[in-house]
Amino acid sequence: MAQAKVRHDTDNGSKALNPAKFRDPAVTIQGQPRARVALARLETLWINTGSLCNIECDGCYIESSPKNDRLAYITRQEVAAYLDEIEGKGLPVGEIGFTGGEPFMNRDLPGMLEDALSRGFRVLVLTNAMAPLWQRRDELSAIRERHGNALALRVSIDHYQPERHELIRGRDTWAPMVRGLEWLAAEGFSITVAARLTWDETEADIRAGFAGLFEGRGLSLDAGSAADLVLFPDMDATRDVPEISEACWNVLGVDPADMMCATSRMVVKRRGAAAPVVLPCTLLPYDRQFEMGETLADALNPVTLNHPHCATFCVLGGASCSGGG
Ligand code: SF4
Repeated sequence: MAQAKVRHDTDNGSKALNPAKFRDPAVTIQGQPRARVALARLETLWINTGSLCNIECDGCYIESSPKNDRLAYITRQEVAAYLDEIEGKGLPVGEIGFTGGEPFMNRDLPGMLEDALSRGFRVLVLTNAMAPLWQRRDELSAIRERHGNALALRVSIDHYQPERHELIRGRDTWAPMVRGLEWLAAEGFSITVAARLTWDETEADIRAGFAGLFEGRGLSLDAGSAADLVLFPDMDATRDVPEISEACWNVLGVDPADMMCATSRMVVKRRGAAAPVVLPCTLLPYDRQFEMGETLADALNPVTLNHPHCATFCVLGGASCSGGG
């Protein structure tokens, strides 16, 4: 289905990425030591349930679609091994996050949720709230009855207007999402919403638009709250961005401990792989230089910020670093 292209902030004629950047993990293009992030405390373990999704969104950072199975469905048994490792080694993980693709397409998801919740972890599931969730709603209700608000779901809504949401997500994606969202709210689930900052609007405009949507649908979500409505910047790895050197932390006044990779890791199962592997975060699922090993014990080392997403999504946030090149 041909989709009209929505104007993104990145559709601004910015330069293509200099291919000499992000080559050497040790140093930047200017020969400065590349920034690293130490694991301060492993608080959240993300499980990628597989890259397949029931829809195909414009600009999906993980390129999920009904055909992309580069990340296979992880199994309940494989996830349980990581929960065993957390408990066995006394790691300080408090939250297990599930992301995809669309997590509810993985048949093992209800079992994985049950396993994590029954061991006392908080659980967060990122979902589009469409048919795959709808088909599992009885199991989901039963899990909520057993575990209450230890289970939270974050629903992706790309825009507060149906037409713009569907320009990103495809035709007929609004009504099934609203059906799922309203069902989750009516059942008393703990829910939040994720949207994009890619539109030709200010953050204030976007939050005001979502406030109208939440009020109109009777949802008790605060669009002014960064926790209730999480807004993510666009991620375009082809756009030219500065590299991040160790000097950048001071120049920018950014604390490495605030990066996702200071408190998180993500497990993925690559198609055809014998075992899952651990990555530093949810943002770099395909770049093999970020593979840290098969166990959490293998994945406690510092992370070298050798990817454009490290700069644009995590460190710079629109600022610039003169030491970064
Ligand atoms: S994108 Fe880079 S800086 Fe951001 S969390 Fe992942 S590894 Fe860390």
